[in-house]
Amino acid sequence: MSSRPSALVLGAGIMGLSAAWGLARRGFAVRVVEQDAVPNPRGASVDHHRLIRHAYGAQAGYMRMVDPAYAAWDRVWRDLGEVLHVRTGVLAVSGSAAGWLGDSRAALAADGLALADLTAADVAARFPIFTEAGIGAAFHMEPGGVLLAERIVAGLARHLAGRGVAFERARAASVDPARAALRLADGGERGADLLVVAAGPWAPRLLPGALAPRVVASRQILVLLEPPPPHRDAWARAPMLLDLAEDGGFYAVPPVAGTPLKIGDHRFSRSGDAEADGRDATAAEAEEILAFARPRLRDAAAYRVVGARACYYDVEDRERFVVEAIAPRCLAMSGFTGHGFKFGPLLGLAVAAAVTDPALLPALAPWAAGEAPPAPGLLAALESLPA
Ligand SMILES: Cc1cc2nc3c(=O)[nH]c(=O)nc-3n(C[C@H](O)[C@H](O)[C@H](O)COP(=O)(O)OP(=O)(O)OC[C@H]3O[C@@H](n4cnc5c(N)ncnc54)[C@H](O)[C@@H]3O)c2cc1C
Repeated sequence: MSSRPSALVLGAGIMGLSAAWGLARRGFAVRVVEQDAVPNPRGASVDHHRLIRHAYGAQAGYMRMVDPAYAAWDRVWRDLGEVLHVRTGVLAVSGSAAGWLGDSRAALAADGLALADLTAADVAARFPIFTEAGIGAAFHMEPGGVLLAERIVAGLARHLAGRGVAFERARAASVDPARAALRLADGGERGADLLVVAAGPWAPRLLPGALAPRVVASRQILVLLEPPPPHRDAWARAPMLLDLAEDGGFYAVPPVAGTPLKIGDHRFSRSGDAEADGRDATAAEAEEILAFARPRLRDAAAYRVVGARACYYDVEDRERFVVEAIAPRCLAMSGFTGHGFKFGPLLGLAVAAAVTDPALLPALAPWAAGEAPPAPGLLAALESLPA
């Protein structure tokens, strides 16, 4: 009989896979239960891309997690045998020097992270695909880029299966945190020494006691665009564009590595049901986000809309992640709002370190919530990870 501890992970999005990765590396026998195919187009982790960047408004805790997140991604690339990140740099623009852009700028400068302030005219001169109209403040940063999300999820799942992680396609009807167990929709039951619930926007319904109303599912819209021919080369070399505010805004993901140009709405709808609702976006929903982006795009009318769809965030009111022990043998990973992907592997390693050494557990939740520096023991545990 095996003396290895066992772990059951609910959900094969980036968080569940990252937890499985961290736990397998720490010697756990891991089983992942997922209701859909992997990668899952209904999940929060999958379409072509997700952004990683240091600019984080006033949320300095998350800004400081970005370098450790890059280090965790480097471990993923080593395991996958390929780098699924494309460096683009970051262009942040705003109508005003206050608000999200100003907060980001102040936090970045306070930590000595290099950025270049740009005037509206600089933006248009350096990146002619963008207009200067309405830009009151802007900066550019060299670090930052695109994580090829769908390929990462597929690659991680393949890697884990090759490492002996068991994948089971099944729907969990309910979660029993106290017993670290799942009851499946077909009547079966699965249990382990440890249960990690990483159910994305489905989680508030599965764990109403622990998560609702702190975390709610939120239908979000994204639109795929084809730039007009004269701008295509420039877009292939363009930075990500962030035009964010505390209460919303939009971002643009450049068309790197054969992916489409994508714009996304950062306002939270805080409505919808990840299980019941479809992923098609209406023309009116797409038009709302296009209306934000058009003033920033030169020749905006010449862009062709090639698709629009909905996805779901699991929104926590102040965008703080919930990575917590909700029972002695059960952890929840939730509340990732619109910014969790970049931190998946880092959080997976941290969860695995904290369950291996329970003295680290109390430091996990406040750090993941972006509210405290990592406990020294947690950082040391991340650095000393077995190969
Ligand atoms: C359009 C969009 C853009 C984003 N952009 C960025 C970005 O630029 N940068 C960034 O860092 N983050 C970004 N995010 C956020 C990030 O992608 C999410 O925070 C992250 O992917 C959440 O991962 P997850 O594993 O928690 O959820 P999911 O990927 O949703 O995984 C949860 C899984 O659990 C499964 N599951 C749920 N319930 C059950 C059940 N009862 N039984 C069995 N299986 C179940 C689901 O099928 C699903 O596959 C974005 C999100 C979206 C939607």
